[in-house]
Amino acid sequence: MSSLCPYCNGMTTLNLQCPQCGNRLFDGGRLDDYLGPYSPYRAIDDLKLTNGYPDLDRRLCVHQTYCESCGYRQEVQAEEWLT
Ligand SMILES: [Zn+2]
Ligand SMILES: [Zn+2]
Repeated sequence: MSSLCPYCNGMTTLNLQCPQCGNRLFDGGRLDDYLGPYSPYRAIDDLKLTNGYPDLDRRLCVHQTYCESCGYRQEVQAEEWLT
């Protein structure tokens, strides 16, 4: 069985508000994509185990969201859909 993240795949969008200024939070993509460039020799599964989130087991995709107005950042754990 495989799973996919509906946010990564554009099937739905995050609808979150910035707790500081009330603007809409933008979805900056997977957290792994941020960690990736700094550790180019590590496998994706290894990254998943070491970025602090057990998202392999729980099928969560961690997204980095941000507010364009005040710079607030928040990590969101998106539940992946089973296919
Ligand atoms: Zn995702
Ligand atoms: Zn804000």
